[in-house]
Amino acid sequence: MVEITEIPVDGYECVKRAIDPASGLHAYISVHSTVLGPALGGMRLWPYSSEQDALTDVLRLSRGMTYKAACAGLDLGGGKSVIIGDPSMKSEAFFEAMGEFVESFGGSYITAEDVNTKVEDMGIVARKSSHVVGLAGKSGNPSPKTAWGVFLGLKATLEEVFGSDSVAGKVVAIEGAGSVGSIYADYIAKEGGKILVADIRPESAERVATATGGEVVSPDAIRSVECDVYAPCALGGSINDETIPQLKCKAICGAANNQLLEDRHGDQLRDLGIRYAPDYVVNAAGLINVFDEMMPGGYNEERALRNMDKIRANMRAIFAISNEEGISTAAAADRFAERRMAEAQQTNA
Ligand code: NAD
Repeated sequence: MVEITEIPVDGYECVKRAIDPASGLHAYISVHSTVLGPALGGMRLWPYSSEQDALTDVLRLSRGMTYKAACAGLDLGGGKSVIIGDPSMKSEAFFEAMGEFVESFGGSYITAEDVNTKVEDMGIVARKSSHVVGLAGKSGNPSPKTAWGVFLGLKATLEEVFGSDSVAGKVVAIEGAGSVGSIYADYIAKEGGKILVADIRPESAERVATATGGEVVSPDAIRSVECDVYAPCALGGSINDETIPQLKCKAICGAANNQLLEDRHGDQLRDLGIRYAPDYVVNAAGLINVFDEMMPGGYNEERALRNMDKIRANMRAIFAISNEEGISTAAAADRFAERRMAEAQQTNA
């Protein structure tokens, strides 16, 4: 029997904790907002050192999903689930209990794979809940779509900085030659851009450099290398007090989540004249892709790609807000999302 308890949190629609002694499940689900639609967000499995850490993370991540969906123009709210533990705890009973937990939201929360959970795990969750997306045979691997969306964001960023969206001759320094970074590099190279690439796994960086005719740079040097665009495609927090003074780029556009260590780092970039493409705006194509599964008639790749095109227009709108209101692009993105939510609230009232 899964014990589910609601935890009231100011500013959040519904936060619950689940404990299932039989399977060892200890998890939280947070629905931050359903103003625009049901709250979609992945199911993360992580060895949090305390309950408080898990709760803090699920609140932060679910709020982030609200803003990401709102900016992407999707009729979706923001939610997230986190499970305390590591992949060795996985069992069928564990994910079936999680399915019951997801189902207890009656559709206001929709889940998907995330860090340390896989498509197969979601198949088990789906035995107990119909509110699961990204299952096998549907919208597929999100990484190529995410890379395409970041590339569209890059085009809008180049247009803002150089007055032309042409990638030809531009030098892009990619940190992280993983699933997204490697494909992003391909798109850039195909249009004549020059790739500098770093990865803590040297063979991954070599592979991308060879495929794109680019050059490998050490992970220690990638943030201070002379380039047009720095593209964080590894972990979050790479834009911080230590790295900002080292940057020699004109713009930042990459896939990694939570690139700014703190909000104030967005203001510092603005003061330095470095144009930052907010991460959650340009890396939303995976979300746009999986959302398409929920459309009448099911997943349609052409329609999903058309919706991803909006990333360019959204970036233009965010640069315009930033320029007109004299605020950072990160703050402008939040404002863009909040305006859309306020309009929806007025319409619903
Ligand atoms: P990935 O694990 O496939 O690739 C990350 C790469 O970064 C790995 O090759 C890793 O070795 C490298 N790396 C780690 N630390 C590094 C460092 N300090 N310096 C250089 N390289 C380092 O992950 P991914 O799926 O490509 O995702 C990349 C980022 O984009 C993550 O922050 C992820 O949260 C975000 N993101 C991914 C998607 C998606 O669809 N995959 C969607 C939205 C956001």
